[in-house]
Amino acid sequence: MGVELRREQLVAELLDPRNGFERTRLPLEVRWDPLTGQSCRLLPAGSIPAPARHDLARLAEQSRDACPFCGDRLDRETPRFPAEVCEEGRFRSGEAVLFPNLVPYAKWSSVSVYSADRHLLPIDELSPSLVADNLETQVRFAAAVLSHDPSSSWVSINANHLPPSGSSVFHPHLQGSANPMATTMQRLLAGVDPADVRAYVETERERGERFIAGGAVEWLAAFAPLGPAELRAFVFGAASPAELRADVVRELAEGISAGLRVYAGLGFESFNLALYGAPPATPGYALSLRLVARAYYGPARRSDAMWSERLHWESATDLAPEHLADLARAGFANP
Ligand SMILES: [Zn+2]
Repeated sequence: MGVELRREQLVAELLDPRNGFERTRLPLEVRWDPLTGQSCRLLPAGSIPAPARHDLARLAEQSRDACPFCGDRLDRETPRFPAEVCEEGRFRSGEAVLFPNLVPYAKWSSVSVYSADRHLLPIDELSPSLVADNLETQVRFAAAVLSHDPSSSWVSINANHLPPSGSSVFHPHLQGSANPMATTMQRLLAGVDPADVRAYVETERERGERFIAGGAVEWLAAFAPLGPAELRAFVFGAASPAELRADVVRELAEGISAGLRVYAGLGFESFNLALYGAPPATPGYALSLRLVARAYYGPARRSDAMWSERLHWESATDLAPEHLADLARAGFANP
């Protein structure tokens, strides 16, 4: 076993005005991700305010009339791929539709809506079939791009869901990206010895406290989360999203849907997701997914990303991974 689940406990000491300036000791813990070495700090539960709630029905009504992803407007107002990439111009699966992103975030940048008829989709209504159909359009997009432009071999599938996550369009969607070069996280993950990835998952399976569900997709609560309530999935035997079989897409979608119901139960309404592909057939590489909850906090609706997240690459969270895993095991067992 080549991985270490490294954690160090610290105590902050101060004279607390809330308690007559008595000497008070507050615990915190620093952990390091066993694959990338990225650190995080776990604060005592209740250190961070509850996520602010949005009036989603009102936001939906305000944005619906001008929404380019709704109904017939999608056909008129979203771009199409050239025929050499997609004969029909857009990729479709079930209700999901995928089209090029007007903003070139990547050489090949896509947007895929769960449905042109679903302008409002709270995260606990992202059913396994809605998620699976949307992922399927991204898998087809990945395969078509790789066949047309094999040099754009670093493919990822991503999501910003609602404004706290960075989404600029209210209508729920996924985003695909294919570039000739890796992002920083793709490069870090591709640089990990595949035996260490396997050892990490097996260590967590044996320990049990953060392991959630196994199968073609292995689900864990992250040991050292990148953000609130991070869930991780690993797919051994696929390096690129283009290599995902339909049954594995379905299993991945079931896990994402179950994870999002857990987030909803914790009061979250927003999330980011990334499925980090490496070039197809990269030996030993396991496709991996990271899912984090996003929120504004408190009455001033402050961001959940502070100096620690943005400039030190060290998230601060008061949600213990072991507690998240307890909730998720129950949620995954009762779809
Ligand atoms: Zn819409």
